[in-house]
Amino acid sequence: MTYVIAQPCVDIKDRACVTECPVDCIYEGSRTLYINPAECVDCHACEPVCPVEAIFYEDDLPRHWAHYRSVNAEFFEAAPLGRDRPRDSPGDHPLVTALPPQSLYKKEISAFAVRKEEAADADLWFPS
Ligand code: SF4
Ligand code: SF4
Repeated sequence: MTYVIAQPCVDIKDRACVTECPVDCIYEGSRTLYINPAECVDCHACEPVCPVEAIFYEDDLPRHWAHYRSVNAEFFEAAPLGRDRPRDSPGDHPLVTALPPQSLYKKEISAFAVRKEEAADADLWFPS
């Protein structure tokens, strides 16, 4: 079993998850990051730190992003990182490459995430 990075990461790539992973199994593509399912140890450390909630346990993927399980796995089947695939321009899975720019959509999500944090803080200090 594995965790999976889905579409919200595309064009964000803040790498917050990378520093949390104890086995260094999160790799960088050109527009998104990918979890190697052969290396992930299901520790859950990456999921809570993602600011756009892009990381899911594979069985918990929303139906409309279910194909990201294959997207993550196939990224590592295409070409070995560091040899055929240069580290400075690693490319992406074809489904990610075909996506339109996500930045406008992401700004809306980020704003929502900030408001959600503010709401959580308000609940903490002024419990109902
Ligand atoms: S669940 Fe753990 S091992 Fe798997 S990608 Fe996340 S931090 Fe790394
Ligand atoms: S924390 Fe989330 S948005 Fe940031 S790089 Fe990881 S998966 Fe992408």
